[in-house]
Amino acid sequence: MIKTLIKDCIVITVDEQRHVFWHGAIAINDGKILEAGPSEALESKYKAEEVIDGRGFIAMPGLTNLHFHLPQVLMRGVYDDVDGAMIKLKNYTWPIQGHYDEFDALTSTKLGVLEMLKSGTTAFLSTGLHPRYNIDAIAQFLVDSGIRAGISKYVMDLNTYALEDSALHPGMWETGEESKTQTLEMIDKWHGAGEGRISAWISPRSVGGCSLELMKWVSRTARERKVGITAHWSEVQNNVDYTLSEYGKRPMYFAQDLGFLGPDVVLAHGIYVDDEEIELLAETETTIAHCPRCNSKLAMGVAPVPKMLRAGVNVTLANDGMGVNNTADIFREMQSMIFMHRINQSDPDFPTAADALEMATIHGAKGLMLEDKIGSLETGKSADLILIDYQKPHMLPLHDPVSAVVWAATGQDVDSVMIGGEFVMRHRQVLTMNEAEILRDAEGIKDKIIEQSGVSVLRSWKIH
Ligand SMILES: [Zn+2]
Repeated sequence: MIKTLIKDCIVITVDEQRHVFWHGAIAINDGKILEAGPSEALESKYKAEEVIDGRGFIAMPGLTNLHFHLPQVLMRGVYDDVDGAMIKLKNYTWPIQGHYDEFDALTSTKLGVLEMLKSGTTAFLSTGLHPRYNIDAIAQFLVDSGIRAGISKYVMDLNTYALEDSALHPGMWETGEESKTQTLEMIDKWHGAGEGRISAWISPRSVGGCSLELMKWVSRTARERKVGITAHWSEVQNNVDYTLSEYGKRPMYFAQDLGFLGPDVVLAHGIYVDDEEIELLAETETTIAHCPRCNSKLAMGVAPVPKMLRAGVNVTLANDGMGVNNTADIFREMQSMIFMHRINQSDPDFPTAADALEMATIHGAKGLMLEDKIGSLETGKSADLILIDYQKPHMLPLHDPVSAVVWAATGQDVDSVMIGGEFVMRHRQVLTMNEAEILRDAEGIKDKIIEQSGVSVLRSWKIH
């Protein structure tokens, strides 16, 4: 007797052969997938304690989000139309975040995780935690939420950002020693927590935010502790100007010198990357977390994603912060990624829906160094999956499940979410947290967060 059999659903496996079963089933026991295959065969082979009727649903791997800022969720809709990524950071993001207290940061985290789960994201990588936020409370919440999370805090010893002087808000500043100590403490306490669902990562703040010595400490410590490195890299033109003027190299070659390239490294954005740097990323199996909606909204530039994909770079998708996006819905990133690159290259054939789906599942798993555990529905992997309700006008008629998921679905169509064989959301009800309380708290502190930071909300029209 096995625990769960989900039968009679469409199954998109994203396995090696990219099997899709029209009348499919998934057999699950001990948190793992025993088998995904044709429903009839699995129904006769397995007897289950719980048999779930999957008619009307598409089952597929949970989505991944490889660059997120848990503390920035409460900035949604505060500064939509600001000219320049640096101005946005210096005048809005950092002052707001720099004034957070523990409750603000925890509420931001809760709202973000709630939104991710409700839109089908089962694993994510976040950066930018600060000890003032009580990292332990945030990590404990993540354990309890059931989600799979990589967490990191910034490591820094310079108060600059590339060529910008004294950019960082005092409320986010830490000395090199403080940020090293706190990082090691976070790794010791939380790496592997929640039956391995939580991983700790090291996150150098930015080029120009860390001395060369500290960058090398990051690289050395990550390998000693066997944790990943994640950083914003080649995000704005001044990153390139900075590494060229300070070190005589473009950012990816600078990263190579530091030991910041490899299968254990996730670099967010990767917009200002030339052809040779693309080859370097492919050779070193470095992951790029591409943020199409954020990059478009801020007019940051177009990352050469089609070239990267053709060169074999592991490109995956991410939301970035909610002040610059404004939703944590990876379905929207899949669509936006295709739109962005097709119009930019005048190529109506590439990237495809299948490319987008791979980027949001198996590529994300690889970036998280969890390729043998998640990212596809196949024997031996963790049962991290979502059920999408396709019995809706915008999803029918359904000819191609991959097309339906990428071109037509949104996160709101996710009916149920399972992580490690346990449902964390069933029929849109999240089972691991109090949704009403989180929504009430987030709305309840929104004015306080703006007032304490001295920032003004940039509203579209005057509200009377
Ligand atoms: Zn970011």
